[in-house]
Amino acid sequence: MNGVYIHIPFCKSKCPYCDFYSYRCKSEEQEKYIDSLIDEINTSRRTEEFLKGEFVADTLYIGGGTPSVLSGNDLTRIITAAKKRFRIDDFSEITVECNPGSDIESLIPCFKETGVNRVSLGMQSAVDSERRTLGRSADKERIKKVIKLLKDNGIDNISLDIMLGIPSQTPETLKETLNFAIGCEVKHISAYILKIEDGTFFDTHRERYDFPDDNAVCDLYEQCADTLEKAGFSHYEISNFAVPGYESRHNTKYWELENYLGIGAAAHSYVDGKRFYFKSDTESFIKGEKAVFDGLGGDSEEYIMLKLRLKKGLNLTELKNLYGEKVLERINKKAPLFKEQGFVNFDGENLSLTRKGFLVSNSIISELI
Ligand code: SF4
Repeated sequence: MNGVYIHIPFCKSKCPYCDFYSYRCKSEEQEKYIDSLIDEINTSRRTEEFLKGEFVADTLYIGGGTPSVLSGNDLTRIITAAKKRFRIDDFSEITVECNPGSDIESLIPCFKETGVNRVSLGMQSAVDSERRTLGRSADKERIKKVIKLLKDNGIDNISLDIMLGIPSQTPETLKETLNFAIGCEVKHISAYILKIEDGTFFDTHRERYDFPDDNAVCDLYEQCADTLEKAGFSHYEISNFAVPGYESRHNTKYWELENYLGIGAAAHSYVDGKRFYFKSDTESFIKGEKAVFDGLGGDSEEYIMLKLRLKKGLNLTELKNLYGEKVLERINKKAPLFKEQGFVNFDGENLSLTRKGFLVSNSIISELI
């Protein structure tokens, strides 16, 4: 089944590590953008050349940016339009990314009315000093309050983002974050390693911060995976952990090479083997500029790369049926060696990365393809 992603490129302020397309904008521009989003949802006039027939979806993901900066009314308009257009029913997964510092209280009526059943909270750390370093305003008490508020209103599928490699982060501070997250009894945790992207504040002011080195970050990753697995989370994707049954249905579509349609500035799509995207430019989206073709997707290399992000890995028979015998040659040659070194599990039929392999996934995958 298909997924739909809607991008809200607005944030209250810019975090020092962020290179996503997001900014603080004037309310007039925001209104125009939302009208354009709804126009595109209703008409597909910017993506029509890529869509054949009806696009029925069973996941909807409102991401950003910070969707929770929108009013409940605007969010309701967007979700209601998308549900109608893409025939998203009550059994679908509807996720909204929220910043715990936003006025989540005012969004609860929207969540109830539109059937939002999953919220992803950008916590990053439960240590207030680390959160301040990351430019995040809400403190631990506020995060707890938001989680309780969501649960009290029937949303128990909550995901928390955690960051690894924050300046001055130590095993002790990570332990505090992990214990807090586990104590909140959320169903899903995403743990991302901080990457210092060119041009971000962290990049241009590196000397001000005490970034953990690569070895320390690897140790933090191992600590995180170990702790969460012991707490009952399944490490189902390189950066994602879930109580079994609560894996992100929407994000899994990306790794399983299923169709997803991205709507809004900077949103990317993969539909029927074609990739296309909207420019990172709100104005051009408002003006009605069409999505840009980004080449064909879904070749064997991409398939292998995406499948190996998942704990369940790659089935070689399926791979052969899709792409032919030849694609197995390199894998059959390299995989036994990586198995000996502890980077992969391999039994001749299934290939998956171990936790040690996850840490160096880019190198392993590029060797395999
Ligand atoms: S809230 Fe998210 S999207 Fe917005 S600036 Fe911070 S990291 Fe970037």
